Amino acid sequence: MGSRYGGAFPVKDIMTLEQAPPSKAASPLSIGELAAGTVNFGADALFLDFDGTLAEIAPAPDLVQFFPGTREIIDVLSKSFSGAVAIVTGRKISEIDGHMAPLKLPIAGLYGLVHRTAAGDIVDFPVVGKELARASAELKAMVEQHPGLLLELKGQTIALHYRSRPDLGTACYEAVRTAVQGRPGLKMIEGKMVVEITPSGADKGRAVQGFLREPPFIGRRPIYAGDDVSDEDAFAVVNALGGIAIKIGPGPTAARYRANHIAELLAWLTCVSHLPSARTA
Ligand SMILES: [Mg+2]
Repeated sequence: MGSRYGGAFPVKDIMTLEQAPPSKAASPLSIGELAAGTVNFGADALFLDFDGTLAEIAPAPDLVQFFPGTREIIDVLSKSFSGAVAIVTGRKISEIDGHMAPLKLPIAGLYGLVHRTAAGDIVDFPVVGKELARASAELKAMVEQHPGLLLELKGQTIALHYRSRPDLGTACYEAVRTAVQGRPGLKMIEGKMVVEITPSGADKGRAVQGFLREPPFIGRRPIYAGDDVSDEDAFAVVNALGGIAIKIGPGPTAARYRANHIAELLAWLTCVSHLPSARTA
């Protein structure tokens, strides 16, 4: 019987409603809300980004820091999903092989430009050679002027790393933006301490779709974990297919679940690997 219910809606509440931000997608649930038992080894496929998802971002790309037991967990999962576990990364396939050895997983490298199937076949995306070479020459000139920057030529993509010069982040972003401008065959991808140029048309979402057309991934529900802006393309594909998307760390995302850091994701993957239906051999 208070004034709240008896008369006009209090002015204060109306103000609050008017000032409320426009409705947006529901924020992700904590990964703790995702029961490991919802995973079905016979019907699901697992896709994992590498840097910032399985391994901490290190001062240089070749200095990778794994939590203990990471490879062993992935090994159990790969067997349990009958091989339907893939890495989806901006790195080269050979680098991931080096870090994951002795495991040799299906991998989409260079944001899906190169792809190794579960059978071991390599599938390449058409290259945009000349445009990439010109963009690379422009960035090389910049790197020569600024010690600490690292230009990584990956064949079909170029990565400008500023891990050792975070003060130059904005300058790197601008240089890459200028380099892709007027070159419709190329696009830029922002990452953590890195800005990259890749041919347009390849992204992590398409990489997931590619795997889902091949054995042993065909017909499975995708589960995808990633930490970066480039993983959002995959989250969109996964959401559209009714899969499970998991974002690692802070930041806006289309993923339905969030792990606050790598250790939280690994804890969840460990629970999945301990399900009674898991296979260790
Ligand atoms: Mg990442």
